Amino acid sequence: MNCPKCGKEMQSGYLQTNKIMAFNQHIHKLSLLPKDEGDLLIVNNTVRGANFKGFICKDCGLIVFDYTQSNVKE
Ligand SMILES: [Zn+2]
Repeated sequence: MNCPKCGKEMQSGYLQTNKIMAFNQHIHKLSLLPKDEGDLLIVNNTVRGANFKGFICKDCGLIVFDYTQSNVKE
């Protein structure tokens, strides 16, 4: 996959988390749980965490991953 920002070849791998991960419209200072429309709780698993197959561009720092495909295995 080519980086949508700079166009260079991206490196494949796994984005891993071992706790809670959210994509929120604004920064939440206490809880990551959704508050606003558009907030998304991506991972809520403090025991097993989650693994997402993804691609990284180390030149510009962009990571692309499919948040609907969690706990993928190699
Ligand atoms: Zn890039």
